[in-house]
Amino acid sequence: MPSEKKPKPEADDLPSPEQFCLAVPLYDPYRFDYESSGGFFSIEHFKGTLDFFCPECGSHSVFRLAREAKYQDTSHARNHIFSLPFVCSRDGSHRADFIFRAHKGVIQKIGQSPSLADIATPDLKKYRPVLGQERHRELVRGVGLATHGVGVGAFVYLRRVFEWLIDQARLAASAEPDWSDDAYIRARMEERITLLANYLPDFLVKNRGLYGILSVGVHTLTEKQCLDAFPAVKLAIELTLDDLLKAHERNEKLKAAAKALEALKGTVGKPEA
Ligand SMILES: [Zn+2]
Repeated sequence: MPSEKKPKPEADDLPSPEQFCLAVPLYDPYRFDYESSGGFFSIEHFKGTLDFFCPECGSHSVFRLAREAKYQDTSHARNHIFSLPFVCSRDGSHRADFIFRAHKGVIQKIGQSPSLADIATPDLKKYRPVLGQERHRELVRGVGLATHGVGVGAFVYLRRVFEWLIDQARLAASAEPDWSDDAYIRARMEERITLLANYLPDFLVKNRGLYGILSVGVHTLTEKQCLDAFPAVKLAIELTLDDLLKAHERNEKLKAAAKALEALKGTVGKPEA
């Protein structure tokens, strides 16, 4: 066999500027190619806006570019570092900065403020009444770890929350006359989801194949397998929590209505003084 030249590694599909800033963990490397795809022009010359949780406003806000990409050192063209500075549209003193480094055909995000965890976890606060303090903390920790690219650790936390939610569905299902706990206990995660189909979001039931990974011991999974499975597990958790939250809010409203009616009865029944 003739000796072959080592093929040039192909360029990766770069994330969109929004994804690169708001979802990609620090230091994740992406190979780029100037000739075929114009390098990282779309990142460096991004002119759009970013929509995310502003920790200083305490709510979602639109961030616009304060000015064009700023370069730290233009003398080292081969070690190209630039930052994208954004300001919150509500208050110009609320800043967000994303720093990138391009070197030897690889671009990475090497810094950002606010952190991915600061951006990603406030959205989870609304689930606290449903999850309780401890589970809520586990969910936040899992999402926080994943934003830092820690796969196995993140997966352990998310899996605990997921399994707890499945167990909540099992509690509801066990009231059915033909429910069999034995069959449930013997079943793998994928089959458990089928058994609980009436108590779980459609998305989760339809895509139950994705959750086979939850039956695999965490010690046998790689960082990458965990990070790859993470979004699907997180989405299923959020969808399940959305349903539970809706039921919880409805219950709270019913309670308040019953209380208001009770109070009204008290006044309506009384003759005027
Ligand atoms: Zn703000």
